[in-house]
This record gives sequence, C-alpha cells and structure tokens, in this order.
Amino acid sequence: ASKSGGRDRITLCSDDLRTGSERRLRILSSLRTALAEDNFRLVFQPKVDLRNSRRIVGAEALLRWRDPHLGEVAPLEFVPLAEMNGLSNALDLRVLKLFAEQQKSLFAKGVFLPISVNISARSLHAANFVSTVLSFLDFNNIPPELLILEITETSMLRFSSDTTERLAQLTAAGVRLSIDDFGTGYASLLYLEKMNTSELKIDRSFVAKLGIGEMQTERIVQAILALGRGLGIEVVAEGVETETQREWLVKNECTVGQGFLFKRPQERESFERLLI
Ligand code: C2E
Ligand code: MG
Ligand code: MG
Ligand code: MG
Repeated sequence: ASKSGGRDRITLCSDDLRTGSERRLRILSSLRTALAEDNFRLVFQPKVDLRNSRRIVGAEALLRWRDPHLGEVAPLEFVPLAEMNGLSNALDLRVLKLFAEQQKSLFAKGVFLPISVNISARSLHAANFVSTVLSFLDFNNIPPELLILEITETSMLRFSSDTTERLAQLTAAGVRLSIDDFGTGYASLLYLEKMNTSELKIDRSFVAKLGIGEMQTERIVQAILALGRGLGIEVVAEGVETETQREWLVKNECTVGQGFLFKRPQERESFERLLI
C-alpha cells in the first residue's frame, strides 16, 4: 500500500509539472500570434491625490490580454515569458501604441493627463530604445511630459552605465521616469539622481502594513518619503486598500497614491468617463 501511495504521489507531481510547462508553451505560442494580431488592450488605474479631494492626477496603464482559447491571461504570467523569449521589445511597442491611442483620444476631449506605462527592463538594453520612444512621441504629437516610464527597482540590478545613460537622455527630453516596486530591489541612489528620476512607487507589500502597528515597515516607508523629499522625487503609494493606510500616508506627507480604495483598473470607456 505504501508503495502504490508513493507511486501515486510521483504521478501527481509529474502531472502538475507537465500542465505547468504545457500551459507556458501554449501561452508562448499564442503570445506570438497575439502580437501579430490585436488581442491586447490597456486598462487604466487612476493615480489620485490622497488628501480629501481625491482628485485624479494621473493613471497607470496595465496590459490585458484575452486569448480566444486561453481566456484572460494575467500579465504576471505572460510578461516574464515574453521577456525570456525575446518578445519584450515587441510587447513594449504594442503597449506604447495603445498608450498613444488613449492619449490622442483624451486630447480630443481636452484632457491632458500624464499616463504611466510599464516597460520591460530588457527593452532598455536595445541601443535604439531612446530614439524609438522619442520619434514615436513626436510622430504622434504627444508631449514627452505626458509619458511616464515605469521600470522596476529589481531590474536596476542589471543596469549598465549605458542603460542609465539612455534613461538620462529620455528624461532630458522630458519623458518622466518612475521606479516601480520601490523598496524591494537594488536601486543605486546615485543612479536615481543621474537618471533624473521623477517618481518612486512604494511597493504594495509595504503599503499593506501601514497604520497597524508594524513599526519596522512604517520606519522604512518614512525613510523612503524622506529620501524623496531630499532628492525632490515624488513618492507614490501603490496598492492603497484601506482608509487606515490612506490616513497614515497623508499624515506622513505622502500625497499621491493608487489602489482599490479609490479605483480598480478601468476599461478605457469607464476611465474616460471619470475624466470628462
Ligand atoms: P505593477 O506595475 O506594480 O502594477 C500594479 C499591480 O497591482 C496591477 O496588477 C494592479 O492591478 C494591482 N493593484 C493596483 N491596486 C491594487 C490594490 O489596491 N490592491 C492589490 N492587491 N492590487 C492592486 P496587474 O495589472 O495584474 O499587473 C501586475 C504586474 O504586471 C505589474 O505590476 C507590472 O509589473 C506587470 N505589467 C502590467 N502591465 C504591463 C505592461 O504593459 N508591460 C510590462 N512590461 N509589464 C506589465
Ligand atoms: Mg507599475
Ligand atoms: Mg507597481
Ligand atoms: Mg507592484
């Protein structure tokens, strides 16, 4: 009995592995088709003033993909696969294209709002990244100030001096730079200044522990806020879910945030309705 039990466990385990890798393979092959066709869209999560007005001051564009066979696939599942398989440039271009469509639609309604897009660290290694982004903005008549590029702090570990130089060229042209998931990675504080960073986004894992007596987390967040004030970089809280968190942030002079407390990521139509 113990033997067959053992065999069953082994069978179960290898089945799990197989479905996992089969799913990854299916996602990858569908991803290549999806990039050629048009199964991607962006949803938009407003960034708000955390004080009483709760005024919308910006938005983060988040990628969504609905595959005819796989259904909705989460970015956390397909973005890493795209990066590992040389598709991150194609994905970023698709995101920039969707970003431009949204901005032009808002311009036509008289709305000028900075919108953040998440950029794969891999794309920054391409030598033509700067010229691609700048000529793209120029071609679409989008002021560079209305594009915020979010790169994760973790990706900065692999930055070379070329990468920082490229990002500095983009910020010199007016594009804004935001360091995402701040506090979880390896940012060199020197790089933050060199790249003329305009924003740090405090990772959700810290925000989740504010105002509930987690002194260590609170001290870390206070230190990030002090760093931002010292360097003149705006600090944004992500994943604000409770009134307690919002109050703690305002009391500690963090005035911009996003999260389910205010709005979930919105489909394009409802996002526009919030703005006009
Ligand atoms: P991120 O850039 O840190 O985005 C924030 C994530 O937190 C989003 O998940 C958002 O829906 C979620 N979120 C926002 N507010 C709350 C909240 O109050 N509570 C909780 N629990 N979650 C909240 P999403 O859309 O699933 O995206 C996950 C990650 O996938 C993003 O993390 C980003 O790293 C990546 N991603 C999304 N869109 C793109 C894209 O266009 N390009 C690239 N390269 N990566 C993307
Ligand atoms: Mg982000
Ligand atoms: Mg984030
Ligand atoms: Mg995050």
